[in-house]
Amino acid sequence: MNKALDRSLIKRLLEADCEDPLASTDQLTSQEIPPGVDRRTFLMRSAVGGAAAVMVGHSISAQERTAKALATLPQASSPKPPLAADLNVVKKGQGPVLTTADEFYKVGPGPSSSHTIGPMRITYDFYQRATKLPADKLARATKLQVNLFGSLSATGKGHGTERAALAGLVGNEPATVDPKFLDSLRDKPDQTFPVKLGDKSINVSLKDVIYDATKGDFKHPNTMTVKVLAGDEVLLEQEYYSVGGGFIEWKGYTPPKKNPPKYPFRLMKELRAHADNNKISIAKVMLANEMSIAGRTEAEVYAFIDKIINAMVATVKSGLSMPEDDVLPGPIKLHSKAATVYKRAMDDKYASDKGIGALSAFALAASEENGRGHLVITAPTGGSAGVMPALVYGLLEIRKLDRQKVREGMLAALAIGYLCKHHATLSAAEGGCQAEIGVASSMAAALTATAYDAESRVVENAAESALEHHLGMTCDPVAGYVQVPCIERCAFGAVKAWTAYAIASNEIASRHRVDFDATVMALAETAKDMNSKYKETSEAGLALSVTLC
Ligand code: SF4
Repeated sequence: MNKALDRSLIKRLLEADCEDPLASTDQLTSQEIPPGVDRRTFLMRSAVGGAAAVMVGHSISAQERTAKALATLPQASSPKPPLAADLNVVKKGQGPVLTTADEFYKVGPGPSSSHTIGPMRITYDFYQRATKLPADKLARATKLQVNLFGSLSATGKGHGTERAALAGLVGNEPATVDPKFLDSLRDKPDQTFPVKLGDKSINVSLKDVIYDATKGDFKHPNTMTVKVLAGDEVLLEQEYYSVGGGFIEWKGYTPPKKNPPKYPFRLMKELRAHADNNKISIAKVMLANEMSIAGRTEAEVYAFIDKIINAMVATVKSGLSMPEDDVLPGPIKLHSKAATVYKRAMDDKYASDKGIGALSAFALAASEENGRGHLVITAPTGGSAGVMPALVYGLLEIRKLDRQKVREGMLAALAIGYLCKHHATLSAAEGGCQAEIGVASSMAAALTATAYDAESRVVENAAESALEHHLGMTCDPVAGYVQVPCIERCAFGAVKAWTAYAIASNEIASRHRVDFDATVMALAETAKDMNSKYKETSEAGLALSVTLC
């Protein structure tokens, strides 16, 4: 507002019988906020309307101000449909945590657990069901068709969702698929593959994976359907949901029956009480629960954890070994930088600079592997696949910590991931990047604290701190590719995890003001309130402001 206008406004306000126009804006704004509108935007519009009326010598009633303000409010972005109440991912927060390590840590192709690993698991699952159709139906089958909806359709192209979906349909599982097969689908998209259904062989290609409606009344933002058709007749159809972190559900899904946990917990408060009352670590509580829920021996639990640790180390090594000028797939033409950052960090003068540089490089390395569509580990997701491996690699390969300490750290990290999944979300399509990098960083902080033998309160505090300082972080991948901001974001997630551990292990633990459960609740509420444009749609934020040329 220029000075002349400013004076004129004050004059009008005085004439409008305001004793002190600068002391109150009541004369200008409507004090009642109508339901369903953004408070800040409404108040601004209302004030502008009121001031404009005063400036031109009109008086304006409260009702008129409200009506005018409402009429000039910008169109709200399409609200994301609420998640259906009957999805297990919604109901889950009610009972004790029953997730197991092999459900959580999944190996599969990047770049996105919800857009590649989930869809591949879905089409693989459907393929198994289709083979069980009666022989007479199979004899009439002519076509297999996949339809992608919601976020899977909006950003699936950038994630290679169609390639992942086709790979599952032709019988590939995420953990064992050769990334070169997925690369070949990208390089030669017209290939066809025979799918054996009984005595019948049906040819499928990428054309059978359809990018369908991006908006609609879906049970979950990541919805897809898979069908067996005989001409136009549907012989078998299933609706599926990729609910985050590679977890999948389908219409009518009921979770598998599991044994009760030895130490049931729903909240961190209860988990820590088990640890403290029994004088064992959080990791030992988790180990006991893994054994009782899944009916496994200690050796079997650790064998699985070792497999995941080895895969994490391998992904960092593979990323660091890529040529310095490697260019990642996609329109961003992003040069990989993990190897360069690592090499240059090693020349830094101060040990602390070297440490931060190296930790960042490890995260960049694993995350760039994700961007290449190579095998990564969901901890908790593909987009955040650089965070935990960076800490695992640093603790094991650089600090040379005892492997058993890192195993226990992996178990404590699971507790964090489970609780976030149980009460909030791991899906960027539901909660933005706070649900991916935020949870990953929180898990990595718990891993580090546990590996360094911290008491349970310090483990909680470290995890809380790392999660707290990611709250509100949006998901806005440029061009729909999990590269910018995702790759660097993994490096920041790893460094923040270390910072959270550094603070938690050096502060007076009992004085830490915010408890983990409160922060998870904030994560869940922030996820609900976040504008849908910032939930993996590539419609806002960096996805809009960065220009590709
Ligand atoms: S911005 Fe964050 S949540 Fe979104 S794709 Fe990238 S890493 Fe995942």
